[in-house]
Amino acid sequence: MNNSKYQHSRRKFITQTGLAGLGLGLLDPELVKAMESFSVLKKDKLGIALVGLGGYATNQLAPALQLTTHCYLAGIVTGTPSKAEEWKKKYNIPDKNIYDYSNFDSIKDNPDIDIVYVVLPNFMHAEYTIRAAAAGKHVICEKPMAISVEECDRMIAACKKARKMLSIGYRLHFDPYHTEIRRLGKEQVWGKVLSFESNFAFNAKKGIWRLDKKIAGGGALMDLGIYCIQAACYSTGMLPVAVTAKAGTATDPEKYIGIEQMLEFELEFPNGVKARCKTNYTDSVNNMTVHAEKGDYGLVGGFNYNNIKGTTPSGPLEYEPMNQQTKQMDAFAVAVKTNTPSIVPGEMGRRDLKIIEAIYESLATGAKAKIKF
Ligand code: NAD
Repeated sequence: MNNSKYQHSRRKFITQTGLAGLGLGLLDPELVKAMESFSVLKKDKLGIALVGLGGYATNQLAPALQLTTHCYLAGIVTGTPSKAEEWKKKYNIPDKNIYDYSNFDSIKDNPDIDIVYVVLPNFMHAEYTIRAAAAGKHVICEKPMAISVEECDRMIAACKKARKMLSIGYRLHFDPYHTEIRRLGKEQVWGKVLSFESNFAFNAKKGIWRLDKKIAGGGALMDLGIYCIQAACYSTGMLPVAVTAKAGTATDPEKYIGIEQMLEFELEFPNGVKARCKTNYTDSVNNMTVHAEKGDYGLVGGFNYNNIKGTTPSGPLEYEPMNQQTKQMDAFAVAVKTNTPSIVPGEMGRRDLKIIEAIYESLATGAKAKIKF
């Protein structure tokens, strides 16, 4: 909690309850306990601890947390002492809120941390989400939620058992371009959605963990194709019932460790609507198009953090620049504070892993795979 606000709240509490005259020391534990249970002192900003200080935490989440209203960067978890030192200075993080992977579980005793945000490589998501829940913290876990549905089930169960909320880092649900795409489909503004196409790929450098199945859980599908799956679901307003997938010929097995090099998949929705998607770590493409009865609409650069271009039959979509991650984290903090469900819950992350597993099943068998949730 912001210290000056805390002091202000403490003063307000003491004045309002007349405790100032009792001569109780400000650090008296009984007084602090009484204050914490008093609604006027309920934290107005929830403390977030980022676990894993890699590219996304450093370049997106920490800066976004400087703009949030309902939460703030309270702590960090890192295995690299030099990063701890750097972040401590840059973001004024007290030593007591800095953890490494071996003492992480003691975060349970730290009232400054309300929410743990897991920003680690995919194979570590389940372990740290489950440990965070066991430590009594709410959790935001980055996408993909985990590397299997079985892991997702354990994560959801752990959060339920601890009575903590679980949300996935699906930032685009908070972006106005994507909200509008969803609305256009839902309200059939351009008639019924007939079909959908989306491509998301970038040229990844050889050697990064994303290209290793053991760490990433799969190929570009886990990292990029998941955005196409998400967009197909919210553009059509439906969940797929089957999928057919095929992989292109691998030409660089040293770069792709146990993962597909090129992937195309076609999702089938209940009323015959199909979503054709392509993803890989070779090309550079980022778009989505909805074909509707009265015309096409969609986004170019739609999966970016900013600079999204939107088109509709009546002209471009244009919104003021905003910070997706700020809005996403504030929304979760409000959900926690008001005890209302997250709009991007663990169940949605699990749903997407179900679809991903069906895509890999189709790839392995060469046949259509049914999807049952
Ligand atoms: P990164 O490689 O930049 O950072 C990963 C961090 O994990 C590093 O600090 C690394 O030191 C640490 N780490 C700890 N144990 C590790 C291990 N055994 N192997 C490798 N690294 C280890 O990755 P990133 O781009 O920050 O991605 C982290 C997570 O965030 C991924 O799940 C990714 O899918 C997700 N992500 C989401 C978005 C989004 O837009 N929502 C964007 C980027 C990344």
